[in-house]
Amino acid sequence: MWSIRERTLKMIMEASRDALPNEFGALLRAEHQIIYEIALVPGSINGPVHVIFRTYTMPLDFSYVGSVHSHPSGNTHPSDADLHMFSNTGPVHIIVGYPYNMNNFSAYTRNGDPLKLNII
Ligand SMILES: [Zn+2]
Repeated sequence: MWSIRERTLKMIMEASRDALPNEFGALLRAEHQIIYEIALVPGSINGPVHVIFRTYTMPLDFSYVGSVHSHPSGNTHPSDADLHMFSNTGPVHIIVGYPYNMNNFSAYTRNGDPLKLNII
């Protein structure tokens, strides 16, 4: 069962709003399946998030559990590129969608299956 800290999700939504009209992307850090922090991937802000994630190698640090990125289109379904990226970057992935309110997100497993994510 995965959870995310409310303030972390709030931070993600704010960063996604700041990045408009571009995508925002970051890695997720968690402890005991609670996501508590985002870690920026160098160069990914206001950049082509999918391309960077696709070529990015996860650091050898087990507190990194996956990725988060924004879809300015508002659609939180993963693209084919997202699914490929998910399979390389850990067990939990979040896509947030415009207008980036606290309920505008979907979470997915490494395989792209929907994942229930509690906000705590
Ligand atoms: Zn995407």
